[in-house]
Formats: sequence, C-alpha cells, structure tokens
Amino acid sequence: MKKMLFVFNPRSGKGLIRNALLDIVDIFTRGGFEVVTYPTQKPRDGYRKILEDGMNFDVVAVSGGDGTMSEAVTALMQLPKMIPIGYIPTGSTNDFAASMRISTNMTDAAQDIVDGVYFEYDVGQFNKQRYFVYVAAFGIFTDVPYVTPQDAKNIFGHAAYIAEGIKRFTAGSYKGMDITVEHDGIKESGNFLLGIVSNSTSIGGMKVPMREGVYFDDGLFEVTLVRTPSTPLALQQTLNDALLNRLNTKNFLSFKSAKVSFTSPEPISWTLDGEAGGAYTESVAVNCRRAIKLIIKPDDKTDQQREIDLLKPPSDTTNKYLRTALFEDQDGIEI
Ligand SMILES: [Mg+2]
Repeated sequence: MKKMLFVFNPRSGKGLIRNALLDIVDIFTRGGFEVVTYPTQKPRDGYRKILEDGMNFDVVAVSGGDGTMSEAVTALMQLPKMIPIGYIPTGSTNDFAASMRISTNMTDAAQDIVDGVYFEYDVGQFNKQRYFVYVAAFGIFTDVPYVTPQDAKNIFGHAAYIAEGIKRFTAGSYKGMDITVEHDGIKESGNFLLGIVSNSTSIGGMKVPMREGVYFDDGLFEVTLVRTPSTPLALQQTLNDALLNRLNTKNFLSFKSAKVSFTSPEPISWTLDGEAGGAYTESVAVNCRRAIKLIIKPDDKTDQQREIDLLKPPSDTTNKYLRTALFEDQDGIEI
C-alpha cells in the first residue's frame, strides 16, 4: 500500500477543512493510500514534519493556504528524493491553486490527487536560502499580506491587501527605490515602485499581467518592475498600461529570465509567496527548473497537459537543488 503523509492547517480558510476531513481521508484511502494525518500545531510545524518524515512516504498531501504550500515545498526541496506533492487549497487567496487550476472544492481536489498525474514544477530559490513557489516581490502591496493577521486574512481575503495597498499609495507613504537589476548579461538601474518575480498567473488574488505565455516548467520567471511615476500623468499612464497589459512601455521593465539579481543602496523588503522574506541590499532569484513533482488533475484542454505530454520520465529522482534553508530572519510562516 502506498503511504501518504497528509499535513493540514486546521485554521486556514476559517477552519473549513473540519467539515471535509473525513471525506478527504476516505477518498485517499479508497484511492489506495495508507494515510497518516498531521494537523499542524503552530507556524512552521508542517515544514518541520515534512522535513523530518517526508522521506518515509510515497506522497505528501497538504491542505492550507499559499503559505502552507510554500512551506511544504521548502521542506521537500531539502529532501534527497523528489517526493510528489498534492495540494488541497483552503486559504483566503489561493494564488497557487488558481495558477495550477486546482479545484477549490476540497473533496474534488482530494480526488484529483488520487487520479492525478505528475507535473514537474519550477521552484524559485531566493538568496540561496529560501524557496518560493510562485512569487517573490517587493514594494507597494507586497508587505501587506504578512502584516495582515491570519484572522483578518480569513475575513477579508485579498480585498484587505488591495485596500491597504491603495491606502498607502494615495497617502504618499510609498516612495520609489533606486535599484540595479541584472539578468542575462544585461544591467539596468532605475527607480522602481514595485517588482515581481513570478512563476504564476495569479498574484494576490488578481490575474497577472503578461500571463499569456506563462509556463510553470520552462525554467523562466516572468519579471516585472514598475517605474516610479514622476508626475500624476505618468501615474495615470502606468495604471492604464497595467490595465491594458502593455508592459513593454517605458513605464515598466519587463522580461523573462532564469536568474535575476537586484542591488540597492537601501535594503529591499521582500515577500515570498505572500509571507515575510527578509530585507536585503543584494538579492538573487534563481529558477530551479522542474524541481518538484506536483500532482495535478489530468486535463487535455490545458497548457499544463500539453507540457505533461512532452515530459519524459526522469532518469533519476535525485533532487539536484538540495540546499539548506535558513529561517533565522523569519517570523514564521502560518501553516
Ligand atoms: Mg516559468
């Protein structure tokens, strides 16, 4: 019998998992898994559990918000073997689930894990210490998620983030940052309002501009930096460009890359998958191509399925991106 470790955050998404737990475990069991359930007891508990016990299982399934998924992946990245991971989203925003078209119906998501196929998904490595599943970002909006307490996230969802971001911007408490960006031998300096390094079609509950041509296993991030508008007219143009998905105008610096670095005189505060990522004057994001095996629903209509069809079975499952993650500067991720 295949062994599954099922780690879930009992508090995520207003504790909705409580009503579905029995059905989920039943689905896994009927699907041929011997299930060990683990309700997380405190922040980073899921990370610890998967890091310590993950190797004893054939599959890890997790349930919670984006932070849960991020923490699980960070643990899996440190195991010497690629253990496949399935995800049942229950958080308030669920960017990752939206990107990967994972059902937000919990029992459907569980059934999809049982019936699913493997998709080798790119993971971002940040400053050689941390990992992110779908986004590393700085600037306006981006420090809002982790100052919003879990209960407020549950009540307000992403509207809380947006309202907070707009409030700060119009209050003038956000200024641009002088940053030098380097990628693929290209170096550019400028003053930027925000920056996003992503492998996702959804961030903060909103669809990502430039989402056409986003692939989750191409080894490339989509990188967008917004230049700080110097006049009200420039601000209006920037907003218009963003709404119309015109990111190739002079108001943005936008490109795809496997590795990008940022240097600034003042430390930049980062958020990784919506949680605190630390502040640095030098940061580098590296795309670890096809570093985790995500279990997703087979669906021949999606881009993902076309990618899956092209995938060959890996010759070995050694995790070549094995690294040690450090959490010293971190308050902890809710899982
Ligand atoms: Mg990509």
